[in-house]
Amino acid sequence: MKYNFGAGPCILPQTVFEQAAKGVLDFNGLSILEVSHRHKDFVAVMEEARELVKQALNVPKGYTVLFLQGGATLGFTISAINMTKGGKAGYINTGTWASGAIREAKLVGVDVHVLASSEDKNFTYIPKNIEVPSDLDYLYYCSNNTIYGTQFQETVKSNVPLVCDMSSDIFSKEINVADFDLIYAGAQKNLGPAGATLYIVKEDVLGKATPKFMPTYMNLAKQHEKDSMLNTPPVFSVYVSMLNLRELLATGGVKAAEERNNAKAALLYGEIDANPLFTTNVAKEDRSKMNVSFVFDEKYNGLEEEFNKTWQDAGIVGIKGHRSTGGYRASLYNALPLSSVQVLVDLMKDFASKKA
Ligand SMILES: *Cc1c(COP(=O)(O)O)cnc(C)c1O
Repeated sequence: MKYNFGAGPCILPQTVFEQAAKGVLDFNGLSILEVSHRHKDFVAVMEEARELVKQALNVPKGYTVLFLQGGATLGFTISAINMTKGGKAGYINTGTWASGAIREAKLVGVDVHVLASSEDKNFTYIPKNIEVPSDLDYLYYCSNNTIYGTQFQETVKSNVPLVCDMSSDIFSKEINVADFDLIYAGAQKNLGPAGATLYIVKEDVLGKATPKFMPTYMNLAKQHEKDSMLNTPPVFSVYVSMLNLRELLATGGVKAAEERNNAKAALLYGEIDANPLFTTNVAKEDRSKMNVSFVFDEKYNGLEEEFNKTWQDAGIVGIKGHRSTGGYRASLYNALPLSSVQVLVDLMKDFASKKA
């Protein structure tokens, strides 16, 4: 038995793994891996996947849902060139992924203004009271900072078009899609296997940007026109994402997932706060419910090696912190059961009772 706390690609429900495996062997007589993406059976999968995203997030009329490739990393560029009107764009810098978006927007000639940053404290908090000039083409932020374990607890207030990288907290909690002009998310954090990247775009936005260049593939207006089938889509990733969305809706949807996620996060943060060995560098009010970052209290740093062996022996996987931060990070994505968090918490307790 393994308990997978990996940050991405991440755990998916066992039933989804089983159905996905079945689809590889038999999807209406062929393998899902060999079926033509133009065949009506796959077109139906793509349509259902797009529809289930709308259901899960209550996407209002006037928005389109697309499954593209390139990961969230290409989303840095796609969002910039589809939102720029040649003027200023505001960015909030909350870490590696937001910094990547800033870098890529500059590369395509966008006049980037970093309105706030938490770099001064190694991105361990979320900037507050951000002033948003009213003359921006758009405002960009990353809702959950996967690497540091910080998360915007509320949608950023903005009177300009809002763009958000939700790769690591989409479908984990209810959101009001109408607040955003463009949302994107790599599939592999909470939606499905790596390969697809989800875009939710206000249709009003399409075709209005004036970037310095616009490759056809990255043109969201063209992708919308072609029903997310401009070229061969990431067939398997879309298929498994669709299966996972069915499972999400069958288990109470995003609202129920949010309640489960709140319980998981409360359990683990409760232990980190109570346990003398561990602490977290993340500001309390900015703690992520998806990626829980923690470290040894300085006094106990010497115990790291022994702790690592203990959790590895117990079947826990993927809690080593990102190579840029060190320490530990336990990711609590939708498919991770509370019982797995309990295993980690019990192990931390037990370790402390022997060592503290
Ligand atoms: C993982 C991650 C990315 C990078 O995603 P890729 O799909 O690997 O390009 C970007 N933003 C956030 C918030 C992430 O968690």
